[in-house]
Parts: sequence; structure tokens; C-alpha cells
Amino acid sequence: MTVYDSIDEVRDELLKCMKCGNCMEVCPVYIETKKEGSVARGKIRLIDALLNGDLDYTEGLEERIGLCLTCMACVAKCPCGVKVDKIIFGARAAIVKNRGLHPVKKAIFSVVKRPKLFNLGMIAGSKLQGLAFKKHVSVTGAHPRFPFGLDMRRIIPPLAAKPLRSQLPEVIKVPNPVKKAAFFTGCSMNFLYADAGLALVEVLKKNNVELTVPKEQHCCGMPLLAHGDAETVLQMAKSHVDIFSKLDVEHIITVCGSGGTMFQHHYVDMLKDDPEYAEKARRVADKIIDISDYIVTVIGLDESKLGTLNMTVTYHDPCHLNRGMGVKDSPRIILKKIPGLKFVEMKNADRCCGSAGSFSLTHYDLSMDIHRHKSDAIKATEADAVTTGCGSCIMQLADGMNRFNMNLPVYYTIQILAKSYEAKEMEKKQKS
Ligand code: SF4
Ligand code: SF4
Repeated sequence: MTVYDSIDEVRDELLKCMKCGNCMEVCPVYIETKKEGSVARGKIRLIDALLNGDLDYTEGLEERIGLCLTCMACVAKCPCGVKVDKIIFGARAAIVKNRGLHPVKKAIFSVVKRPKLFNLGMIAGSKLQGLAFKKHVSVTGAHPRFPFGLDMRRIIPPLAAKPLRSQLPEVIKVPNPVKKAAFFTGCSMNFLYADAGLALVEVLKKNNVELTVPKEQHCCGMPLLAHGDAETVLQMAKSHVDIFSKLDVEHIITVCGSGGTMFQHHYVDMLKDDPEYAEKARRVADKIIDISDYIVTVIGLDESKLGTLNMTVTYHDPCHLNRGMGVKDSPRIILKKIPGLKFVEMKNADRCCGSAGSFSLTHYDLSMDIHRHKSDAIKATEADAVTTGCGSCIMQLADGMNRFNMNLPVYYTIQILAKSYEAKEMEKKQKS
């Protein structure tokens, strides 16, 4: 039995909470709202009351449980090790079971869970996006022309002309492979940031890694889990475990913390009692590794490949990459090794940017209030570019640039590494 089958399964986690209030200090939502119901302790009280029959599954409860970024800052701070994210996901799944899924979410998720349909929709969207969005002059992105569920002030990145996976063969061969890895692209790199995906492929080719990019892979399911549609996520988890477990690879590379966390933790958790999938899910989870960790700890950062980049860069830690997958050092190691690049640490680099995937869609003003602290921290570094390791954070950071009158480019760390490789090639050409 898992928390997704029955909310009763979170009872032990609830009991661990000693109501100390340490989580108040770090909760980005509480810091803005100052409401007890926003912080982990308050949500734990609510869910406790729900389990004891003192509260019902009302709209108000749904709203209050929805007011969480699942950033895990409280989990990291909690002296009792309360897994607040697990409690929140369990509660949201129970709410959906009792109240049903909102019709708009139901319609969106019914497309997301059908990879072919989703893919077709995104390709059509990429061709028609000029009708729905008007390009912003200073930031890479566009404002919606109509209020179709998006805040009109928002900057949205353009959909890639062609999804990343349709630009790549299923197996990217190299002459003398030293490693074999699979690549889980995630939706944002596949549909939005395809150029960053191509940069990653180039870096791995230059390190003699044979890369398999399964065509049937699809959304990791995190947006659905965040909205309580655990039933659909369970099917997505099984499908991904089937797709990736049949590959003869040593590692499965991920490029966003949410996708990696889904494979490493949530799939395993959801499938732990399934006799057919439990072991398979664990084996797949063991192979999951973020690209920056892969570069630093598996293939090794070959400094002879690095060319000079004269730029000042700061780094934002995505919540699920840092607290979900434990990746914190490798992106910094990569950036600090690049000749000419000045790395400046921003204040509270591991504080949530306010995106939390769809949270920024449903709570735009609050998400930007949270983001304001991030923008201030970036500004103080005087960096001329921001790097991070998650597409959802890139979207939020780019939107924040517009909102808070900054105009810095935002990159995946792997793009900066690819730029350094290119600079080296140029240096070599100039010498010859
Ligand atoms: S820090 Fe942990 S134990 Fe303390 S109130 Fe928050 S969730 Fe409960
Ligand atoms: S996960 Fe983040 S937003 Fe949610 S209660 Fe914990 S600290 Fe607050």
C-alpha cells in the first residue's frame, strides 16, 4: 500500500512532526503569505484533522494543500525528517479521488498521457505559436495575445521548430565508445530547449559516449503527480520502467531534477508493492544520473577540451535537482573549471525560484513574489549570465528577467560546457 492508494499511509509521517516550526524559516510560500496553513506544520495539522474526520474534502482544503511548491526546503530543514513532499503528494491524490480532477486539468492530462497525441499537439503548436503569442523584444520568449489560462504579463519560451527527439537518431553512435548511456530528455528540453539538448549530445559525442534516446519515452508525470492524478502517473511509471529497463546501458542521463526525482524516488515508491515492477523500477532508478554528475563523476571533466569563455556566471540550484537528486557540486565544478569564466555564487542559490512547474501558472502573482528574491540575488552577483539545471527554472528565470527589468541570458550548465568546447575548437583553428 502506498500514499497514492490511501492517505492513511501518511499517518506515520504526520506523527513524526513535533510542531517545532523550524520549517517556517525556509518555506518560500510562508515567507510571502505569513499564513500558518502555508507552511509544512500547518498542512500537517490540516491533513491530521482530515484523517481524524474533523475536516472534509472541501474546496478550501484543496486550495490550501495546493499552496505548496513541493520544493522540499522544509524536508531539508526538518529535525524530525518528516517527508513533507510525500504527505503533500498523498493528500493531493486523496483530494482528486474524493473531489475529482478539475475538468481543465483532466483535459490537459488526457493529452499528456498519450505521447503521440501530445507530440502532434506540440508540433502543431510550434507552427501556430505566432498566432497566440507576440514576441518580446528583449527576452527570448513571447507574451500571450489572449488570456487562455496564462497570465498576460508572462513571458513564454517559443516551442522548438522541431522537438529534440525528432532531430536525433534513436542511437547516436560514436567510433570508439567508452560508455553507453540512455538519455531521458524530459518535456522542456524536448519541446522548448532543443538547442540545449543538441549541445548535450555534442558534449557526449566528444567524450565517446554512445547515447540511446528512446523514441517512446514521454512526460515523467511530475505535473500530474503535483495535481494529484496519481492513477495516470502509475501507468506512466510502468511505461517508463519498461522502456528504460530493456536498454543495455550503464546509465540513464536526466536533464531536470523533476524527471530524475520521478525515476529515482516516486516511480520506486509507487511500484514498491507491484510484484512485476518493483525490482525493475529499482534497477532503472539506480542508473539515473543528472548530466552534470555524469560529466564530473562518470566520464571525468577533461580540461584539455575546455576553451576560454570570458563571462561572469552564477548558478541557481533547482529544488528537485538539489534536494531531490542531491546534485549540488557538479554544476559548480564544471563552471569553475572553465578558463576565463568567473563564477559568482548568488545568495540563497538553493532557494526555490517560485516556478514549481505548473504552480507558476496557477499562482502567478505569488510565484513572482517568491521569484523577486531570486532576481535580487542574481542582480547582486553582477553576473552576465545565469545557469541552472532544469527547464522549468529556466522558464521562470527568463520570465523574472522581464518582470524585474533584467536582461541576462539563462542557460543550462551543459550549454556553457558546450560553448567552452566550441571555444577550444576555435582556439585550435586559430593556432593552426
Ligand atoms: S520542521 Fe519538521 S517537525 Fe518541525 S514543524 Fe516543520 S515539519 Fe514539523
Ligand atoms: S515543500 Fe516548500 S513550499 Fe511546500 S511546505 Fe515545504 S517549504 Fe513550503
